[in-house]
Amino acid sequence: MQGKIVKVSGPLIVAENMADSRMYDVVRVSDKKLIGEIIELRGDKASIQVYEETSGLGPGEAVESTGAPLSVELAPGLIGGIFDGIQRPLTGIYAEYGDRITRGISVDNLDREKKWDFVPAATVGEEVCAGDILGSVQETAVVSHKIMVPYGLKGKVKSISSGAFTITETIAVLETDAGEKEVAMLQRWPVRKGRPYKEKKSPSMPMITGQRVIDTLFPIAKGGVAAVPGPFGSGKTVVQHQLAKWADADIIVYIGCGERGNEMTDVLNEFPALKDPKTGEPLMKRTVLIANTSDMPVAAREASIYTGITIAEYFRDMGMNVAIMADSTSRWAEALREMSGRLEEMPGEEGYPAYLSGRLAEFYERAGVVKVLGGDDREGSVTAIGAVSPAGGDLSEPVAQATLRIVKVFWGLSSSLAYRRHFPAIDWLISYSLYADKLADWYVKNASADFIRLRAFAMQILQEEAELDEIVRLVGADALSYKDRLTLETAKSIREDYLHQNAFHETDTYTSIEKQCGMLRLIYDFHRLAIDAINRGADFNALLTLPVREKIGRAKYIEEKNLSELATIAKEIKEQVKSLDGGEDNV
Ligand code: ADP
Ligand code: MG
Repeated sequence: MQGKIVKVSGPLIVAENMADSRMYDVVRVSDKKLIGEIIELRGDKASIQVYEETSGLGPGEAVESTGAPLSVELAPGLIGGIFDGIQRPLTGIYAEYGDRITRGISVDNLDREKKWDFVPAATVGEEVCAGDILGSVQETAVVSHKIMVPYGLKGKVKSISSGAFTITETIAVLETDAGEKEVAMLQRWPVRKGRPYKEKKSPSMPMITGQRVIDTLFPIAKGGVAAVPGPFGSGKTVVQHQLAKWADADIIVYIGCGERGNEMTDVLNEFPALKDPKTGEPLMKRTVLIANTSDMPVAAREASIYTGITIAEYFRDMGMNVAIMADSTSRWAEALREMSGRLEEMPGEEGYPAYLSGRLAEFYERAGVVKVLGGDDREGSVTAIGAVSPAGGDLSEPVAQATLRIVKVFWGLSSSLAYRRHFPAIDWLISYSLYADKLADWYVKNASADFIRLRAFAMQILQEEAELDEIVRLVGADALSYKDRLTLETAKSIREDYLHQNAFHETDTYTSIEKQCGMLRLIYDFHRLAIDAINRGADFNALLTLPVREKIGRAKYIEEKNLSELATIAKEIKEQVKSLDGGEDNV
């Protein structure tokens, strides 16, 4: 049976004679073989979202179902790859078709020729089940790609090879209840279905990002979910790029969804040149890029999100910590709205479909820390961070509202901070992290015993500043006590010397957690000693003009290998404050 187009409406086509197909089957449209996915079935009519440009298509042309859902290929070759929304390698397309992506092209998602060195881990005679590790391939200097028994298989290892193989060659044979099964490195997985795991656990470790405002004030857990909402130009993309560069995850999946192409070009130019602070290896060696830029068909935006999260889950299943960034989920929501409109569904708020929040939740729910399939007790995590770009930064719109109900970390970017060039423009008065309390233990053990005090100090001073600002506006700064004026000075120091972080400065772009604590402690020490000095009647202006304050401001530029300089500054703070009044040493 063959379907026929009856209607074309932008990226949506309707075909008849499709009664044999199922929801979410992938179809090939017209003799151009455009790739589409069935998103509605009514009688023998199927509505199909087409992932490629549909201009020139017309009624009567053929539609053929492949009988299979949209799936990704999972095997060595993913890392360092740049794929479009349906996992076609952009580099491969370029090699074959030049720089204009033509329609209906058919390239392998992953390289079929390349041979990978497979090192077996399982032995002949061993009983294995889905998720067990058969062996591994050193895919890049930092990624040991585990080859796992595919889902649904269980049996005894009859033979297992060692040496160089392509991803489709047999590396092991299993004796199963259903006879002998050959296993190759390549697996497929339908993107709309979360990969199974044994058990979900609650996140307990931070994902350190090297971004001070995040790690110190609004931390994200490994396996956590976060949103970065903000108006145009407030720094969403820079935040996402910074996380992709510096987060201490094993694998990064970065989805450029519906945003400008030059941002992906930035990633492509920068990442190969940047080195991971931990391993010293280029960041591309742990990164998978999915590019669905604004000039690509809108229907593929949704596919890019699902393709990305499925790849993330696959690496999680190997026992890794994966972070996935989607920039921007609003562009995906807009694509949903467009398709829903063309399907003539009953519109919900602002024309978005009623299932918008359900779809967003499905995406974020695939994040988490899990005990993965397989006999050993491996754990892996997927941390999901979505940018949200509401028009005009208005957080009351449906996509932002739906997202806020799901995520546990909210890094709210403010246009007024961005306008004042305070970057990252994460507004400390509206942002929050519901993981902060849970992660405090980790910080005390691994970062610094006084971490909780330092964090509380910073939050409190910033809160007090907001209240004092009100008073200053009404009656002027002169009406304030010296103690309150010191609070304002300290708040300024926290904002400018600590929270402000230049993503484009070689040293400032990344701050280890040790340095973060050291820097914040300087501000804390100065504040505390200054209060004592004020109480002893020290000259306020002399306090503010102490030369060491300049050094506190420049602490961010101290290189990671010279962190002992922080202790030197701490000593100078003590000496200089003391020198003001020769007062008691209260430290
Ligand atoms: P959005 O994605 O929200 O539209 P971008 O992430 O593209 O905004 O940021 C806009 C501009 O703001 C950047 O091009 C850069 O000049 C500046 N910017 C944002 N964050 C930082 C940062 N952490 N450090 C320095 N500049 C920044
Ligand atoms: Mg952006």
